[in-house]
Amino acid sequence: MLNAVPFNQNTSVMSFAALTEDVLDEVLRRLPDFNTLAATIRTSKQLSDIFKAHPKSITRNVAENTCGHPDVLPAALRLVRKVLKGDVGDDDDDDDDDIVIAQEPPEDEMLASPLTREEARLLDRYGEVVRSMEDIYSWRHKDPASSTTRLTPLEAVRFKRGMHRFWLFCECYSPPEYDDGDDDCQAARDRAANECLRLLLVEDLFEVGAVAAFCAEMYEWNCKAWSLTPVNPPYADFYRDHTCVGPEQILQDFQHLYSSQPEGAENSGFFWTSFEHAVTRFQLSQQSRDDRLVHAIIREDVRAGNSCDRCHAVRGIDLWGSTNWPLLRGFLSLDEVRTLLPGRLQHNSTETKPLCKRLGSEFWLVHRPRPEADEVFTNLMKEMIQLPVDDAVAWSADEWYCHDCVRELFKQRLWRWWHAKKREAGTPEMEDCWYGYNCRTMVHRQAHAEKLNHLCVPTKGDA
Ligand SMILES: [Zn+2]
Ligand SMILES: [Zn+2]
Repeated sequence: MLNAVPFNQNTSVMSFAALTEDVLDEVLRRLPDFNTLAATIRTSKQLSDIFKAHPKSITRNVAENTCGHPDVLPAALRLVRKVLKGDVGDDDDDDDDDIVIAQEPPEDEMLASPLTREEARLLDRYGEVVRSMEDIYSWRHKDPASSTTRLTPLEAVRFKRGMHRFWLFCECYSPPEYDDGDDDCQAARDRAANECLRLLLVEDLFEVGAVAAFCAEMYEWNCKAWSLTPVNPPYADFYRDHTCVGPEQILQDFQHLYSSQPEGAENSGFFWTSFEHAVTRFQLSQQSRDDRLVHAIIREDVRAGNSCDRCHAVRGIDLWGSTNWPLLRGFLSLDEVRTLLPGRLQHNSTETKPLCKRLGSEFWLVHRPRPEADEVFTNLMKEMIQLPVDDAVAWSADEWYCHDCVRELFKQRLWRWWHAKKREAGTPEMEDCWYGYNCRTMVHRQAHAEKLNHLCVPTKGDA
């Protein structure tokens, strides 16, 4: 695989004269994407001439770089060509064959025709989406200490190839927004979707399945990360069904703390009905299927035995430390965070509204960039851990905690942290209510909730 070389067009031009044509040719072939290639050949006539001498092979190499690997390119090309050809879902033509992509040129014929400018542009765009998704996948499933990918080259190929194929499936077989009542058309679409997955080899099928499952995970994360209402899904496959919005939308929602709600997705059985059809013919046991799905991208699970530093429960990859705190937001929704306040505080909107606002409940309204949202949760965790309280429980930013222990940290310290933040912001000190966080009056009388402090231990009543 050709690795992308860092390239600074302004400072490098002068030194080009000293390099041989072979070296310059190699430099062009290693550029990470078409955007950089275009900018680079504009900088000098010499580079432009080298490109003109071998346009096809240099274009091919850069195409491999931008989608990640030569083994990914056929799937990536098939996707961009399908998208450029038009949306099959909107096709009014009654000819059912139109939506049978199994009859489209297969992946192994993709390299035969030269790349157009428009295809190159889309390869760049999709390549970047898939790279960002890989970063998140690796962060969540391989190395919680790194928010950039730590997948091995082979794992990265599986992920990227699977993601491009799943994306193609989304482009072709997303349920229509409105049911047009045409059962024949629906049946043809279902047949085509089944056929599309049935043509895959067993390893490739599980690769796509693993990526589809990850997209459902991300969709669930997005729902929980911005929601202020209870986030119990209305039915089991709710998140899976909604992955039909496709990887690009899911990533965009992730980056903006938002959750797109596509029409027609509910109870569509999107992807997984076809997956079931395709996988049945391999006659695998349920156990074997589950194992294959879990290990389709990362075969070796080096963290399986990792345990919580506080309660010692073995949780593998499901542990939280300072490097993956930003990901907590989608596992501990603000709606749930609110319930971790002691006593009746969760029902005191005088406190919970500004608290949730501070933690990002309205970020999606103002399109706050993702790093800012990440920082909010990172600071919250850090500051709760460092809070000077004498509850004799030592927490550390250097340790890894399971989900239950993280919830325990919130229970013990979120309300104290919130009190400290209010003081820090110069909110005037108010007299403590005798009933503290157990006060009943603060729940139904706003004037009372605003007049007294309830972020305190009760000194009267049911303490
Ligand atoms: Zn624990
Ligand atoms: Zn009170």
